[in-house]
Amino acid sequence: MCGFIGMFGHGPVAREMADGLLVLQHRGQDAAGIATFDGETFHLERGTGLVRECFDEHRLARLKGSMAVGHTRYPTVGGGTAEDAQPLYTNAPYGIAMSHNGNVTNYVELKRELGQKDHRRLSTTCDVEVILNVFAAALARTNGKDFASRVFAAGAEVFRRVKGSYSAAAIVGGYGLVAFRDPFGIKPAILGKRAEGRKVSWCVASESAVLQVLGFEVERDLAPGEVVYVSGDGKLVSRVVAGRGAEGHRPCVFEYIYFARPDSVIDDVSVYRARLRLGEALAHLVRDRNIEPDVVVPVPDSARAAALECARVLGLKYREGLLKNRYVGRTFIMPGQANRVKNVRAKLTVLPMEVERKRVLLVDDSIVRGTTTREVIRMVRDAGASAVYLAITAPPIVHPCVYGIDMQTRHEFIARKLKTPERIAEAVGADGLVYMTIPEMVKAVKGPTKRIREFCMACMDGRYPTGDVTPEVLRTIESERSRESRKAEAAREAEEASLSAGIVPRRER
Ligand code: AMP
Repeated sequence: MCGFIGMFGHGPVAREMADGLLVLQHRGQDAAGIATFDGETFHLERGTGLVRECFDEHRLARLKGSMAVGHTRYPTVGGGTAEDAQPLYTNAPYGIAMSHNGNVTNYVELKRELGQKDHRRLSTTCDVEVILNVFAAALARTNGKDFASRVFAAGAEVFRRVKGSYSAAAIVGGYGLVAFRDPFGIKPAILGKRAEGRKVSWCVASESAVLQVLGFEVERDLAPGEVVYVSGDGKLVSRVVAGRGAEGHRPCVFEYIYFARPDSVIDDVSVYRARLRLGEALAHLVRDRNIEPDVVVPVPDSARAAALECARVLGLKYREGLLKNRYVGRTFIMPGQANRVKNVRAKLTVLPMEVERKRVLLVDDSIVRGTTTREVIRMVRDAGASAVYLAITAPPIVHPCVYGIDMQTRHEFIARKLKTPERIAEAVGADGLVYMTIPEMVKAVKGPTKRIREFCMACMDGRYPTGDVTPEVLRTIESERSRESRKAEAAREAEEASLSAGIVPRRER
């Protein structure tokens, strides 16, 4: 995952962009960046780490201009360096800076094509660079006076050539702000508007919480296959240039289960309400299994809403038996198996008085590898619980996500290896395990909306909406991914070794 924002204002916007990126910090803590355009020149500041580590007063002051694109990075493709952080920039035509959320599945093929056909070379391993260059090459080929039509034509070419999931925002130097959402609308993108006297500012972001915090009114979610263009005078035009509209819309279900902020509303569905409904559905499944806990405890933070509702329906106490230190960072964000186990203990503590001599029902949103889960169960047991059951708001994760969630290789899934809930429970040390079912999940997440017909839940049912994900593509992505994890692991080990030898590495900025 990642977070992106595009902003069109009437005065300096860098500070507001940084505030917006803070709202999207949960979508990526690996790197952050902002590009602005002041009418003449682009300004670009990026760095590794948290938004607040990347932007100080000096950097913000350098980011002049009333148009901006920004990004928080979660490392799926691309190295962990500042050079690979977004936004990325290309000079021609006009100068374009772009940031995105998503994952391109035909990256290798496009990279080759861009070199051979479009005579464009890439300088990073980030997939936004291929989107940026396909867009730029297409825009350069278009002609005619009406720039909006040229933007729509270039967007249509992106949708034709670039496979995978992506929502993006770009500044086109001298022209305005562009945003688009892939033809299946897998990744979220929402548009907001703010009237300032007779002037109107615009903001496109991964999540509605950004709009709320910055005081923009929600206009609407971008439609699948839609391109939006805000011209220099602040006029917004948009067109759906690809996809099958609502029929083909496949928003990622994992956004609701785990990734997005509970205070966001994506495609008409409140993330918080979806989690409450998941908790209710889970309670019925727990009851069917004749599990009789004394207390319901969420694994913080993403499972709290579900646990609360699950406890209410079961008529049990809800207790915060686990506390999270939110300054440690998400477990997965520090990749590597050894790190994950270490991080759990640094991140979570048990409140023994809430679990001692009790049968505890732990509610969590998902099990991917089982590493975190095993550690959490061990901690609760060590604190004196007499039994530990597990209820999970997602169905078993058994297929790689090729669209940007950090689970891309088949061998990492515990549910794929062990198959039955009984065997998985045994492996993670639980006395019982209840998984959500796919039909119950779909019903719960949708709730009353008519807007969403189907979700992308490829990680659960193996149906990849983009249609291009063959076993061959999966193998390529897996081997790329394994190579990258090995590289990252080696870099971390080297850093640890130099630290223990007393050498302080230079912090990349
Ligand atoms: P594990 O037991 O190692 O499979 O980890 C399960 C935990 O990881 C759950 O608490 C989830 O909230 C969390 N989780 C699931 N998917 C992801 C992801 N893509 N990135 C970070 N954390 C995740």
